[in-house]
Amino acid sequence: MKVYADNAATTKLSKTALDAMMPYLTDTFGNASSLYDIGQQAHRGVKAARETVAEVINARADEVYFTSGGSEADNWAIKGVAEMMAKKGKKHIITSAFEHHAVLHTVKRLEELFGCEITYLPVYENGIVRPDDVKNAIRDDTALVTIMYANNEIGTIQPISEIGAICREKGVIFHTDAVQAVGHLPIDVKAQNIDMLSMSSHKFHGPKGIGALYIRKGIRIPNLIEGGAQESGRRAGTEAVYAMAGMAAALKEANENLESSMKKMTALRNRLIDGLLKIESSRLNGDRENRLPGNVNISFEGVEGESLLLYLDMKGVSASSGSACTSGSLDPSHVLLAIGLKHEVAHGSLRLTLCEDNTQEEIDYIIDCVPEIIERLRSMSPLWERIQKERGNV
Ligand SMILES: *Cc1c(COP(=O)(O)O)cnc(C)c1O
Repeated sequence: MKVYADNAATTKLSKTALDAMMPYLTDTFGNASSLYDIGQQAHRGVKAARETVAEVINARADEVYFTSGGSEADNWAIKGVAEMMAKKGKKHIITSAFEHHAVLHTVKRLEELFGCEITYLPVYENGIVRPDDVKNAIRDDTALVTIMYANNEIGTIQPISEIGAICREKGVIFHTDAVQAVGHLPIDVKAQNIDMLSMSSHKFHGPKGIGALYIRKGIRIPNLIEGGAQESGRRAGTEAVYAMAGMAAALKEANENLESSMKKMTALRNRLIDGLLKIESSRLNGDRENRLPGNVNISFEGVEGESLLLYLDMKGVSASSGSACTSGSLDPSHVLLAIGLKHEVAHGSLRLTLCEDNTQEEIDYIIDCVPEIIERLRSMSPLWERIQKERGNV
């Protein structure tokens, strides 16, 4: 059996998205800036895609800017606000300890280059930022609060509406990396007081290499790319109309099925969590309730995560041991360390992220495969032997 359970890393392109893209990859190849018919058809494609994306998050079309993806949207939002606010003498940025590297590496860079001061809020054992901590961290020179909507490794959903309300009241710009949330959870940028929001198409069954940044009307961050008049002159370059059309179609589809897919995935997720927690010395990482419907993240003591992944791969199961970006390095996940896991426990973690196409048979297959792999790995593990000795089990 083949089971794809790494949907937080990327998702399969949906048929609807592919169909929406095909015309722009074939007959409707015009440049959206050209005035003749196939150019104008492309132009209408861009306009329609922007309107669809805006509608799903309750924004206006002129508040949505297409980017190459989530990383670019995060970079633009954070660097843009930092540059804009530095002119007003505001150089303090508040974020959390377990953001995606597109955020963490960006604020680090701002610290090194421009002397920005960064506050990293704790996320506690449940993996959730406390709104009171945000409130207490805000200073007169705070330029930006950037807190992710939902974590990509442990799936915990942050109190975005509360944080948004605090920032609005204090007059501080609030950005959220919502790459794991858009298309998976209901979002309303107006009701939730979100000033800027990043999203990425390939996390909701759209094509890779396209995303968007929502910038609330009235916030004038510097342009990202100078050149032509595309994206209102703020991000120049001939539009990838096929990608925009695919992203919009995928998002519309995800949003239309949101309620039923959330329900289905939550049931599958809970079945998988309950099944895997039967294994001795295992723990669920991150809050169980405030959690993305498709996210399972479990640590197994005395096990090496990378080996677990290799054995699972041989069984046909695609999973992850942290974020795809950090696998390949030996450092344990900064997310798992941020929720207080010891290095050796963090190393033995498994992330399985589901989508609405996963079936109960697939979940049961995973629940079947994992225990024997864990048992085999533990039988060869000096670490597990030591743990057993310490507990007086041998
Ligand atoms: C995937 C991801 C990103 C990066 O998005 P890309 O489109 O791959 O650049 C950023 N933040 C989070 C939370 C993600 O999961």
